[in-house]
Amino acid sequence: MRVLIGGGSGFVGRELTRLLKNKGHEVTIISRQPGLGKITWGELESGGLPPCEAAVNLSGENLMNPLRWWNEGYRKDLFSSRVDTTTILAQAIAGSPSPPHAWVLVTGVACYKPSLTAQYTEDSEWTPFDLLSRLVKEWEWAGRLPENIAQNTRQVVIRPGVVLGRDGGAMKQMMTPFWLGLGGTLGSGRQPFPWIHVSDLAGIIAHAMEPSPDTPSAVPQVFNGVAPALNTNYEFTKELGRVLRRPTVFPVPGFVIDALMGSERAIVLTQGQKVEPKRTLESGFQYQYPDLSSALKEIVGS
Ligand code: NDP
Repeated sequence: MRVLIGGGSGFVGRELTRLLKNKGHEVTIISRQPGLGKITWGELESGGLPPCEAAVNLSGENLMNPLRWWNEGYRKDLFSSRVDTTTILAQAIAGSPSPPHAWVLVTGVACYKPSLTAQYTEDSEWTPFDLLSRLVKEWEWAGRLPENIAQNTRQVVIRPGVVLGRDGGAMKQMMTPFWLGLGGTLGSGRQPFPWIHVSDLAGIIAHAMEPSPDTPSAVPQVFNGVAPALNTNYEFTKELGRVLRRPTVFPVPGFVIDALMGSERAIVLTQGQKVEPKRTLESGFQYQYPDLSSALKEIVGS
């Protein structure tokens, strides 16, 4: 299978590329930078979709970029890097004489309203309530294919929680303070912490590209990209401390995180959603790292 991956040079994209190549598939990355095995977004717009059987979009300015101050310019980049790239790729698919059989868009669980009690599945109704949920709405809307194309191209949306892996994402920023014994719960610690190991997220994306017996639909099929274990921030903190054999006695108050990061994005750390991967499990996907202990041991031990 030939697979086109927007943002394939990033943390999740590198893992997905490794997995697909191991399975014998061919990968072309869409990037802002030209290079071997890559096309640029400009080339996609001018030259149309290269021949492929599946397309994925993983592009997006890093929400947790520690080097960027939370301001209007950053917020604009968060939107445009996701919505504009998704629009370009969806339009290229719709305009292609031979569209791929699968189109997978990776968004996020920020569409579900943070709550200590509510539990969400892919079937949960939601309406935008803050900046990040508005982003998910616009992003997923930008990926919708016209009905005539969707009859032959299966549309899938995957909503991951915090992606855990050794080569990037949240763990990269958390490892140093935890190694130094400076780790601790964030905010109350009681908030849910939806997470997934990067290998499992890559596995779910690859699984979603496989031909499916389901009739293609005008509405994308949603899969929650989270581990089946439902954990809180406290449980995550204690387990990481246990695996690293380090104390975790320095809680970080919510107002400090809000002040450092801006409350609109700090919500990802200080509040959270209980998200169940109901359809992901029903589809037969088998997790390599279904619980925190196995996921963190793999990340820390390697
Ligand atoms: P990365 O931060 O690694 O970024 C992926 C790619 O996006 C980059 O390699 C880059 O490709 C491209 N990109 C970055 N900034 C911009 C920009 N300003 N404009 C256009 N393209 C840009 O992302 P991840 O791999 O961690 O995540 C993949 C997707 O999953 C993202 O959309 C993210 O929002 C989503 N997600 C990630 C989570 C996580 O914990 N990591 C959690 C939930 C959702 P290039 O430089 O080649 O153009």
